Amino acid sequence: MAGRIPENKIDEIRTAADIVEIISGYVALKKRGRNFMGLCPFHNEKTPSFSVSPDKQIFHCFGCGKGGNVFTFLMEYEKLSFIEAIKSLADRYGIALPRYEKKEDTRTERMLYANSVAAEFFQKNLKNKTYREKIEYYLYQKRGLKPEIVEKFQIGLAIDDWHGLEAYARKKDIKPQELAEAGLAIKSDKTGEYYDRFRMRLMIPIYNLGGKIVGFGGRTLKKGEPAKYMNSPETPIYSKSFILYGMNFSKTAIRDAGSAFLVEGYFDFLSLFQAGIENVVAVSGTAFTPQQAKLLGRFAQKSYLFFDSDSAGRNATLRSVEHFYNAGIDPIIVNPPQGHDPDSFVREHGAAAVHELTENGISYISFRFNKSDTSAMTSREKETVVREVRSLAGKIDDPLKRDIFIASASERLTLPVSSFRSDTKHSKMVEKLPERVRNTNVLESEFLSIFVTRPPLIETAWNDISPDDLSGPGHKALYALMIESYRASGEINPDKLIEAIDDEVEKSGLSFISTLEWGDLDLSGIVKEYKQMILNQKRDRQISGLKEQLAEAEKKADRETAQKLTQEIKYLLEKRP
Ligand SMILES: [Zn+2]
Repeated sequence: MAGRIPENKIDEIRTAADIVEIISGYVALKKRGRNFMGLCPFHNEKTPSFSVSPDKQIFHCFGCGKGGNVFTFLMEYEKLSFIEAIKSLADRYGIALPRYEKKEDTRTERMLYANSVAAEFFQKNLKNKTYREKIEYYLYQKRGLKPEIVEKFQIGLAIDDWHGLEAYARKKDIKPQELAEAGLAIKSDKTGEYYDRFRMRLMIPIYNLGGKIVGFGGRTLKKGEPAKYMNSPETPIYSKSFILYGMNFSKTAIRDAGSAFLVEGYFDFLSLFQAGIENVVAVSGTAFTPQQAKLLGRFAQKSYLFFDSDSAGRNATLRSVEHFYNAGIDPIIVNPPQGHDPDSFVREHGAAAVHELTENGISYISFRFNKSDTSAMTSREKETVVREVRSLAGKIDDPLKRDIFIASASERLTLPVSSFRSDTKHSKMVEKLPERVRNTNVLESEFLSIFVTRPPLIETAWNDISPDDLSGPGHKALYALMIESYRASGEINPDKLIEAIDDEVEKSGLSFISTLEWGDLDLSGIVKEYKQMILNQKRDRQISGLKEQLAEAEKKADRETAQKLTQEIKYLLEKRP
């Protein structure tokens, strides 16, 4: 199934790739015992049921049942093909793959390519003599950026030329209409000719979470230009509401800190990052969306809203404050002093002063009702405040988070908790496990997990228990697969076996089995007990099947059959220890 990539290469990549490291790039994981737990990225949940095993290199979700290895994860999450998943891991771990025959690139790949060529062109332009002085002044003096930062974030320049990028891209085998598709060129309605979208602008690449350039933000360098900032338009690879600027660089720092600074502009981001405050993201021009909140919530529990006090962006973000609560993020409002924005503040006062500001940060409730002294309010005013808090509380899905929110409102406004409650949603029932997970035969799963832990023990089982003796979802096939693998190679490696499985139920079964741990228990003794329990379970199944038939026969008054069935049941019951 590996296609054109040789099996030994795949094994090499499998060995090099660490599933915890890879998945950590997408999901905040916490160590629990030998495994790591986090919120499942494949279904909506509020309490973690997504488990990753470093020993077995397998993930499994107890909620939705999804499971697999590092390749499956990338395929499912990044929507990659198997080959693309292999390639991306090979790139990441510096493993050279054999060359393939040239294949037509997909449209997406062409757009990513166009963006990377554009970034290359813009970066080269920084050294262009005509503009060097201007750049020197703007980037290094005015903005105070260091060359390392300019390099790391691949900042560049779109020169004052209507066809500069177009000409450069042609040499790199990119057609003008491809540039237009990637949002980098525009087709003239009048002449039908293409021209560069960005001219005389400082170009800031916008990356997706995987670190690929999907668009640009352009800051004008022309005096009197009405559009100070211009961004790439939405394209199939650049969906603004899903991207937080800089998150590919800051996600690890955010996960480690458990918090993120949310700033408004690229330069706020760059200055904070340069000052060593690396847990930062920028909303960059769009309103803060539920999708961005959800993304941030996978890594942070707290977010410092670090905007200038009167910015439109901050006010818009605060209007959608329920997105934070819904994503499990506590928003803290941090105000730079009058006359400063985050960028100028950190450049003048340094990182320590920023941390000091966060200590004086205020909760949303205190911020919103800062000047509200309820004792001096008319009952009408009180009513308005209560209604606002109630309505916001009603938008918070998690009952615990809602209670905390209401409690803080009650304290701040010195009004009883009960006054905020009537409108709020009732606690939802704990999410029920999906059918196929509930139906899992745990005894059999445990039995099979013995062989994942100690493969040679399967030799002591296969004579007494055959695949047909198992009844759990996918268990017959999984047990047969394990036997086959052990006979062929002497190993039972779920990380590898999972690739040979197409059936979703079997895949989920195997990843569930891989989550089970035996510690230091003596498994050779345990396997005997399990064999007996499996046979008992099988007999119980047979007995209940026969009992059903017996009831049927009695209904029809079929004495002969009834008698026969009774005998069989009796026989099976006697055989039971
Ligand atoms: Zn799940």
